[in-house]
Amino acid sequence: MIRFDHLTYRYPGDDSPSLSDLSLEIEEGEFLLVMGPSGAGKSTLLRCLNGLVPHFYGGTLSGHVWVDGREPVVLGPKGMADVVGFVLQDPEAQFVVDQVEDELAFALENQGLDPVIMRKRVEEALDQLNIAALRQRSVSTLSGGERQRVAIAAVMTLQPQVLILDEPTSQLDPQAAEEVLDTLVKLNQDLGLTIILSEHRLERVVQYVDRILYLPGEGQPPLL
Ligand code: ADP
Ligand code: MG
Repeated sequence: MIRFDHLTYRYPGDDSPSLSDLSLEIEEGEFLLVMGPSGAGKSTLLRCLNGLVPHFYGGTLSGHVWVDGREPVVLGPKGMADVVGFVLQDPEAQFVVDQVEDELAFALENQGLDPVIMRKRVEEALDQLNIAALRQRSVSTLSGGERQRVAIAAVMTLQPQVLILDEPTSQLDPQAAEEVLDTLVKLNQDLGLTIILSEHRLERVVQYVDRILYLPGEGQPPLL
């Protein structure tokens, strides 16, 4: 599903690359945890998968990355949106409209989908994330865990093959974090969705995942 081939990337203005000669394969249906200390390159690695790196950040890149046969470096986030769902650490930053249901429909409206299909996709995503009861709510009234599940539902409406989450539980209390992680396990098992999640605390996530990629940082090679 995903292949990094000797990928090296340096942000503009940085002296050294944030990812060096990274080669890695991730199977379809895998639930992978990307771990490592702050600044080790976890977010950077995730950003390569939907083309935010280099499309949004600039910088210099060599080598290749493929996701489901496509090159995010060539296509950019827009060209990858139907394959890769990307959820930010702070769901707030991701919300566009106020009501939960409208938020879920937003990306679909932009794609000009048939209204009947759109309705169906929104219902499926509400169901998958177990948030049907929240459909009429304003996102500003939701708890942290509810917000994170709405943000995940909003990318699931596009029926991605790969779901990427950058420290999705870092701002949640332990119970909300567990709810979000349980939901991800369900998506992984029920839909065979490939999930890649970064986290700097091992204990919270380790029991849920298939494999761990450890980025030590400081120019050291990654461990799988
Ligand atoms: P992590 O997510 O593991 O904390 P990052 O991927 O955010 O690590 O950062 C990896 C390295 O890239 C760090 O040295 C960081 O300073 C650098 N970096 C991250 N974002 C940028 C940016 N927008 N511009 C320049 N350097 C950046
Ligand atoms: Mg990060």
